[in-house]
This record gives sequence, C-alpha cells and structure tokens, in this order.
Amino acid sequence: MKILVTGGAGFIGSHVVDAYLAAGHEVIVVDNLSSGRREFVHPKARFYQEDIRASDLRSVFERERPDVVNHQAAQTSVSVSVSHPRLDAEVNVLGTLNLLALCVEFGATRLIFASTGGAIYGEPERLPVGESHPERPISPYGISKLAGEIYLRYFGRGLEWAVLRYANVYGPRQDPHGEAGVVAIFTQTMLSGRTPTIFGDGKQTRDFVYVGDVASANVRALGAPSGRIANIATGVETTVNDLFGQLADLCGFRGTATYAPPRPGDVYRIALSASRAKEWLGWTATIPLAQGLARTVEWFRTRET
Ligand code: NAD
Repeated sequence: MKILVTGGAGFIGSHVVDAYLAAGHEVIVVDNLSSGRREFVHPKARFYQEDIRASDLRSVFERERPDVVNHQAAQTSVSVSVSHPRLDAEVNVLGTLNLLALCVEFGATRLIFASTGGAIYGEPERLPVGESHPERPISPYGISKLAGEIYLRYFGRGLEWAVLRYANVYGPRQDPHGEAGVVAIFTQTMLSGRTPTIFGDGKQTRDFVYVGDVASANVRALGAPSGRIANIATGVETTVNDLFGQLADLCGFRGTATYAPPRPGDVYRIALSASRAKEWLGWTATIPLAQGLARTVEWFRTRET
C-alpha cells in the first residue's frame, strides 16, 4: 500500500512511518519541519518539505496518488492555541480540510486521523473515560482537533476513515523543550543534573502510552472497519510523583522535585478506556510503563553523548 504520512518528521509520526515501512508499505512523508526533524524521517520514506495548508500540496498528491493518508501533522501546543487561536485553527482545521479535499480529488481510500483524548473530553465525569463521554474541549487546541474529527465524518461519505484519540504519548524522539511531554521534560532535565518542576501536588494522574504501541495502533487502523473513533490508551492512571520517582531511579537523579502552583487548564485526573480499541482494532498497549521509560531514558542518554 502507498501511504502518505503528514507530520512524519515529528515524534509520533516518525514512529508511524517506521512501523508502516516495517510492515512492507511504501511511505511518503509531508512535513514542514516546524517542530519535526529531518533526521527522524526513515531514509526509505520519500520526503516532501511542505505545509499541509499550502496549495502546493496538490502537486504532491498529483505525483504520488497515495492509497491511504495518515494525518499526524498538527499545531500541538495547548498554550500556543490559547495565545494564537487563529494559527491553531489554520493548521488544525484549514490544513485538515485541505488534506481531506485532496484525498477525495485524488482517490485516496482512507484517512487515519491522530486526535486527542484529554483535550477533547475536558474535565472527566468518570474514569476511565470512554469515547461516549461528552466532548467539552477547554482549549482552542481541543476545539480544533474535534473540528477535524467532525469534518472527517462529513467527508467520510466518500472516504473511509479512522480516528485515534491518543492519551499521553511518550517515548524516544519526544521534544523535551515544549510545555507538554512530561516524560521527555523530566528525563532531559534529570540527565542534565537539573531539578524538574512539578506543577501542583504531583498527585494528579495521567495515562501514559508508549509511542511504539501508538504506532502499532496506526498499523491496525489500515485494515479495520471504517468510520470509528477509539481511544489509544492504557486505562491506567499514574501519578506525576510516581513518574518522577521511576525516572529518578532510571536517570540516577538524587534530588527532590521542586513544586510550583498547578497550571490553569490542566485536568487533575485522567485515564482513557481502551476497550473500544481492543474490540475494533484488536489492539492493546503491550509495553509496561517501566519498560517504556527505560527505553526512553536510554534514547535520551545516547543522544547526549
Ligand atoms: P510533533 O510536534 O512532534 O509532530 C507534529 C509534526 O507535524 C511535526 O513534525 C511538525 O513539523 C509537523 N507540522 C506541524 N504543522 C505542520 C504544517 N502546517 N504542515 C506540515 N507539517 C506540519 O507532535 P506529536 O506529539 O508527534 O503529535 C502528532 C499528532 O498526535 C498530532 O496530531 C497531535 O495533535 C496528536 N496527539 C499527540 C499527543 C501526545 O501525547 N504527543 C496526544 C494526543 C494527540
């Protein structure tokens, strides 16, 4: 199968590209390198440095005519979405629309859309959060990702589709310089001998899913029945204090955390139910947190040298 991956130079997208190539598919990457890195793109993938909003994207579709489009490219920062909601909507809504129109025009059969759990559900009514939970985004980022899903359902009249709502994804290649990605931030900070900051009391929980497992879900979504939405998650809550302790052991960090006031807009507890992904995709997370964290720390260590 010929698969075009947008955002294939990014953290998750580059792992999706690797998994598709390993499964024997032909892969094309479109990425504007706004946060992605050229060196993360597998050498066997054909790379186009292109913006998903640009009219030039048409020539990529004309030349490549992909069977499937996997859409990972996005404006992914919640705080940028708050300060620049128009930019967020341009990339996440208009960019997605541009892509959808090209899929239809050039006869792609399926679009797989990387969406988000936490930012779409808002403050959870019950845990773990299932896909039927009310959608109450509390940031422009949550709104724009949800809008992308809804446009997909609309275009889905002529196109097969699959929506994967990720929990907190972590693993090698995650950017440690953003405001999200607590595993990457703590790891990088601890390995450089500095003290990480925990916002709030550290008893807040997150559902951490390893990037390799997320890539496998994207492989399974290629052949699964069309027109469904599923969380890609573990269903397990881990406190930030627990995460801190596990990473401190792995990094050989002896200090204690610095605590700062909680950040507005952060949910306190979250875990997403993964039962629909099991039914629909036959997928469950396979990498336990301890193992995933060990792989992540190892990757950050080798990059330091
Ligand atoms: P990332 O920033 O590493 O990857 C995004 C990629 O898209 C980057 O390579 C970037 O250069 C590219 N990109 C951004 N704007 C573009 C544009 N206008 N045109 C072309 N390319 C563009 O982020 P990530 O964490 O790998 O996120 C991948 C997807 O997963 C996103 O859609 C994000 O919303 C979603 N997601 C991520 C998480 C997480 O925990 N990391 C959780 C939920 C959902």
